[in-house]
Amino acid sequence: MKSKENSQIENKTLSLIIPCYNEEDNIELFFLECLKVFGEDNNIEYIFINDGSKDNTLNNIKNLILKYKDYNINCLNFSRNFGKEAALYAGLKFSHGDFTAIIDADLQQHPKYVKKMVDFLKQNDSYDEVACYQEKRKENKLISFFKNIFYSLINQVSDVNFYKNASDFRVLKRNVVDAILSMPEYFRFSKGLFSFVGFNTYYIPYKVEKRKHGKSSWNFFSLLKYAIDGIIGFSVFPLKISTFVGVMSFILSIIYLIIIVIQKITVGIPINGYPTIVCLILFFGGLQMIFLGIIGEYIGRTYLETKKRPVYIIKDKLNYKELEGADNEKLVER
Ligand code: UDP
Ligand code: MG
Repeated sequence: MKSKENSQIENKTLSLIIPCYNEEDNIELFFLECLKVFGEDNNIEYIFINDGSKDNTLNNIKNLILKYKDYNINCLNFSRNFGKEAALYAGLKFSHGDFTAIIDADLQQHPKYVKKMVDFLKQNDSYDEVACYQEKRKENKLISFFKNIFYSLINQVSDVNFYKNASDFRVLKRNVVDAILSMPEYFRFSKGLFSFVGFNTYYIPYKVEKRKHGKSSWNFFSLLKYAIDGIIGFSVFPLKISTFVGVMSFILSIIYLIIIVIQKITVGIPINGYPTIVCLILFFGGLQMIFLGIIGEYIGRTYLETKKRPVYIIKDKLNYKELEGADNEKLVER
């Protein structure tokens, strides 16, 4: 017979947060894979976030809710595309499980790993979170090269430690979810937020599958923007570089001035400095513009952050009861 403590652990509930942007062909496939892994487990709360998809994703989620009405399937329908970070934030706000999993809808991250992560947490009470990392990255060599630079750079300049290759594919206990939700910032960079809150995290390797349908919404420039967001969001080091460079060039200019004065007095130098002056003006002009740009990035974010605009706007909250017209059991925020 199971001990009381054991059955309590087994009865713990799980929420799955599934951000969806143009995933019409993946919705049901994803759900069927979950069924294969979790069987008819009724302790699972599915939260699909339709992040302003332009295809049939929303309808397919509605059909899924109606077709599998015995399961706890919910949908937060955004008023437009707010981005994956916003979708995750909304999902966390509406999740009620003892464990909360974040997983992509495109089946690149197989639900079997969620089970593995949850089982680990059930057996290891001292851990608060399990995150998956990609053992082998199946991506463009150039992108891989830049990602390596990003990780070494951000780990140098930021106070929090970024675990290389760890994704947002993870399972969190309630205390971690609450800690993440205590940071309502507008510019959200999950990798940084997960590192920032700390907690005892266990990392397990996983194999990234091929996207089942549709295409990734990332390209080189969006990744670059994401990396800059990460560095600016979690470090003020770029602001300090200008002070350092300013002080260094001031010291060098004083030394150069002394040398010129001595040369002038002792040997006398012909006045022939036009190219040098042009180069120096261009060099320092450029440098000042770069630092103005860096300061601008911070000020711009501060400006937008002070407006306290919502991270996302929900148009509809859907579940079976809601779709059937009985709106007494609407999805509620925690
Ligand atoms: N996604 C989202 N909003 C967006 C872009 C993506 O909710 O604006 C979702 C997408 O549907 C998928 C997950 O985020 O479930 C990961 O996106 P994607 O597959 O494009 O990223 P990749 O796997 O290439 O890193
Ligand atoms: Mg993907």
